[in-house]
Amino acid sequence: AARPNDLDAHWMPFTANRRFKSAPRLFVGAEGNYYLSSDGRRILDGMAGLWCVNAGHGHPRIREAIKAQADGLDYVSCFQMGHPDAFTLANRMVGMLPDGLDHVLFSNSGSEAVDTALKVALAYHRQRGEGGRYRLIGRARGYHGMGFGGLSVAGISRHRRDFGPLLPGAAHLPHTLDLARNAFSRGEPEHGVELADDLERLVQIHDASTIAAVIVEPVAGSTGVLPPPKGYLKRLREICDKHGILLIFDEVISGFGRLGASCAAEAFGVTPDMITCAKGLTNGAVPMGATVVGKHVYDAFMTGPESAIELFHGFTYSGHPLACAAGLATLQVYEEEGLFERTRKIADHWEQAAHALKGAPHVIDIRNIGLVAAIEFAPRPGGPGQRSAECAETCYQDGVLVRAGADLIVLSPPLTIEPDEIDRIFASIRKALDTIA
Ligand code: PMP
Repeated sequence: AARPNDLDAHWMPFTANRRFKSAPRLFVGAEGNYYLSSDGRRILDGMAGLWCVNAGHGHPRIREAIKAQADGLDYVSCFQMGHPDAFTLANRMVGMLPDGLDHVLFSNSGSEAVDTALKVALAYHRQRGEGGRYRLIGRARGYHGMGFGGLSVAGISRHRRDFGPLLPGAAHLPHTLDLARNAFSRGEPEHGVELADDLERLVQIHDASTIAAVIVEPVAGSTGVLPPPKGYLKRLREICDKHGILLIFDEVISGFGRLGASCAAEAFGVTPDMITCAKGLTNGAVPMGATVVGKHVYDAFMTGPESAIELFHGFTYSGHPLACAAGLATLQVYEEEGLFERTRKIADHWEQAAHALKGAPHVIDIRNIGLVAAIEFAPRPGGPGQRSAECAETCYQDGVLVRAGADLIVLSPPLTIEPDEIDRIFASIRKALDTIA
């Protein structure tokens, strides 16, 4: 029977809210760069929700678009039917993205977008008569969502441990943390080409004829903001081209403005065969994911020996009217408010404010790119992760929401953040660090 006074009485223990009891943070509203907490405080959002509210909370135009859609078409399947906004949104997305990303498959989350991309990669090779390519390669420290496909290619063993054996033949590139560490210096880490050559070594071990695709986060996000070392992505592209392997960028975080561009492919000038996106696509207001593929991938289905119609993939809510309405309004806001350009401009201030933490207690590294940053701490002897948890809690008490990782504070504010709010975030972290043992 329900225990009505105990809010988390019916949560499952392994949800993300495992620590709910010890740190209840309930929000009842949000506007612009702030949350309103249930105890009546305005909390500066240093995380854009969860890397998604790029245009700020409760944007009136996005809100109105969702309301208007709720008053109109509630639902239509996108199997052999649809609604105009789904086509318009696909067109707008392709118009914003770099050349070479041409066709959109809608889904409902980053995890679904990733699993869709992996399935498309397998089917692409089959369409071309290369069905022996089944292996999917990810990167140690890569995060690609919670579906079985994404888990298989992701490199965080703790996430995979209890759910094996997962997809057969997944392999992982070594992680790049040591070289990606800025160690207080700014700019791109070096040695990208040598690091990418790890892929060439994996290809030699596994044989190119077994490998379908390589998936990477261009900037590893939730594992600690690791910008790609110089030349890394370009070299991956070259190796994939040489061996007929598809390259997928997981742009669930890096897509739609976080790096001051439509996506990382644009920011780094390297176009993969597919990108996955979610989060910023609808400003977090309605769940939506999308997998965008190049024309050559699309053509393989339209002209391949098996009819593309025989292939079956899609979700009940793919291209949901509410999500499409939110997506269209969001893209319009990004464009009209020039938020990607604004991000490029304000990124200097962001970098300086982040690096002003140099020399603060416990800080061993500061990494930043676009409007994202990670502050890494030395682990407390005997208590890994404690310093970041305490820092985040102290900031929260101070009215600033930051995200604690494993001895990391990760930051990705709305792209609408003002310079004085940036200063406030880093001042709050600094104050917290001064009080933490
Ligand atoms: N890929 C990346 C790079 C992500 O950061 C995330 C979410 N943090 C996902 C996939 C999964 O997205 P979702 O939680 O919407 O399924």
